[in-house]
Amino acid sequence: MNRVPLIAGNWKMYKTVPEAVETATQLKEAVKDVSGRDIVIAPPFVSLHPVAQAIRGSNINLSSQDVFWEDEGAFTGQISPAMLLSAGCTYTLIGHSERRQYFGETNETVNKKTKKSIDQGLKVIVCIGETLEEREAGKTFSVLEMQISEGLKGLTPALMGTVVIAYEPVWAIGTGKTATAAQAEEDHQFIRNKLKEQFNTDVAEKTRILYGGSVKPDNIDQLMAEKDIDGVLVGGASLKVDSFSRIVKFT
Ligand code: PEP
Repeated sequence: MNRVPLIAGNWKMYKTVPEAVETATQLKEAVKDVSGRDIVIAPPFVSLHPVAQAIRGSNINLSSQDVFWEDEGAFTGQISPAMLLSAGCTYTLIGHSERRQYFGETNETVNKKTKKSIDQGLKVIVCIGETLEEREAGKTFSVLEMQISEGLKGLTPALMGTVVIAYEPVWAIGTGKTATAAQAEEDHQFIRNKLKEQFNTDVAEKTRILYGGSVKPDNIDQLMAEKDIDGVLVGGASLKVDSFSRIVKFT
């Protein structure tokens, strides 16, 4: 099965609007000759529209870092899928571990956000992953299983065509500790088998599963050599054009 690799950069709460536009403009130039892989960047909300203008006509896709599940209403501070689409996004991240850890994101809210975003026409990158405590207690697979079954509950195989899964072991995010390529591959295989059980073989074969957690220029090639790693979600190393473009150009 040929799954198009996807390399996504999560800028988290970094960069002012002018800084985001400058980085995006430089990145556009740095990756202009890259083909055969999808490139996604996720700047903070306020930079989405100006960054969309800066990357217009390029091979870079725009994502938000979060989304809300209602169309509109008295939900101060929230952003709807339609607003994101109108700002130039084609993707949104959902359920990043930092949102689960600090902002009360649950598998249930992940599910609501996922369904509404797909319904409105956004592609979604749904993030899952276990904490260090859960890994050490031998609960990695049961945590992943629950995040998938609840987070993707009610989706049909057809709707799964717009879902990308990012497996990010929480203990590897921003810590400099990366899962070994073999460790990540084992978890990706588990996730693919779970997709087969919950949906069908076709969904399992077609769904892209990204790895995230301290991905850097010096470990990208090894990670991408694994057969079930279909791309990466990059935090820290996506903030600089030279490191992110090297990751995009993995061999
Ligand atoms: C992330 O933000 O999703 C991430 C994986 O961060 P980092 O690459 O910095 O570990």
